[in-house]
Parts: sequence; structure tokens; C-alpha cells
Amino acid sequence: MKILFLGAPGCGKGTQSKILIGKFGIPQISTGDLLREEMKSGSDLGLEIKTIMSKGDFVDDKLVLSLVSKKIDSNECENGFILDGYPRNLEQAKNLDNLLSAKKIQLDFVFLIDVPDEVLIERCTGRLLCNGCGYIGNKDRGENPNDNCPKCSKGALYQRDDDKPETVRNRLQVYKQQTSPVINFYSDKGVLQKLVGGNDPGKLSEKISQILDI
Ligand code: AMP
Repeated sequence: MKILFLGAPGCGKGTQSKILIGKFGIPQISTGDLLREEMKSGSDLGLEIKTIMSKGDFVDDKLVLSLVSKKIDSNECENGFILDGYPRNLEQAKNLDNLLSAKKIQLDFVFLIDVPDEVLIERCTGRLLCNGCGYIGNKDRGENPNDNCPKCSKGALYQRDDDKPETVRNRLQVYKQQTSPVINFYSDKGVLQKLVGGNDPGKLSEKISQILDI
């Protein structure tokens, strides 16, 4: 199963991907996570990425393509994958199309999760992640930075640097400018399924399960 999620920062792509990982046992390819891993390594490239990400701008298309390609070629992805956060501009959409054609892979589902801007800003600025298991929490559930993770009980919750309000606003603007053509790209191919997101990930997940017939 090969699934692609499109949508603005905070729309719930990560949460829905994580639900599907449990159901299908296939990995999520999150370019944001891959870039954060490179950042943590402390390499020169990681430092360069950190400067770009802290402003909410996009990292170089070729670099992201090479990370995605390497991941798709790994054993982990032999039964499929869930792409989350890639492609994010038209160049990346074309790159992905060429990459998948060369590997004779076809996407089974392309979903766009549509969520109003006010909800996106609230979600991103309230979002907290576990530094151990990747659990995604939120301040609106009464969770706070440095709390023990309610899922794994081992990690601590933290806020991503780029989830600060000023950066979130820039990320949304960049998304609107750069990612709208990607939506048109898949819509023109006739493969885009638009889903209405909101504050109920369980309901959205049920809708996705119905479409996937699981
Ligand atoms: P995310 O975790 O998907 O919200 O991404 C966090 C940040 O990583 C973005 O604001 C970008 O700076 C960078 N990033 C993630 N995916 C991409 C991509 N496909 N192309 C360029 N930059 C990306």
C-alpha cells in the first residue's frame, strides 16, 4: 500500500500516518522527520538545515529527493509506505513522479486533509512531541512541555522550534504559495481525494479506513 498525504502544517497528516502505520505495518516517510534526524546528527548539512527550518522555509528540493529515494529503497518500504510532507512544491511533485516511474511504483491513494487556518495555527502552536516515541500531544489536552509522555512514559514532551507562532504563520504562507500547485498537479491527474479535517482525528481516521476498505 502506497499512500500520500497532502495538507498544511498541523492538518493531522502525521497523526493519520501514525494510525495507518499501526494498521498496515508500513513506515511513514516524513521529510520533516528525516530532516530533523540529519539536524540532530550535528553534521554541517544538519546545521544548514537547522537554519532553514527555524525560519519555516523549505530545504533544497534535490536534498529532500535524495532522502526520500534512499528511504523508499530501504527494506522497510518493501510492502509500501506513507508519504507525509512530501512533495511540497511543484518541482518536488514532478521529481517524485519521475522517481516512482523509474522504480515502477504507483501511488494507491493521494489524500488532501483540508483544515481551516485558525484551527491549523491553534494545533501547531499547541503541539507537543515526545522525544522518545514520537507521540503527538497538544496543550489543549492539558499536556505541557517537559511532562512525561502519556504513551511510552519514558520520554518527555517538547515543543518544536518551528511551532512557535511567528514561524507557524510563515510556514502557512509558504504552504499556500508553494503547495497549492501540488494539489492541482494531483487533482489534474484525477487521483486526489479531499478530506475535511478538524478537531476529531478518530472521525477522520474512520473516513480514511472506509476509503481504504479496512
Ligand atoms: P514538517 O515536519 O513536515 O512540518 O516539516 C518541518 C520543516 O521541515 C518544514 O517547515 C521545512 O522547513 C522542512 N521540510 C519538511 N519537508 C520538506 C520538503 N518536502 N521540502 C522542503 N522542506 C521540507
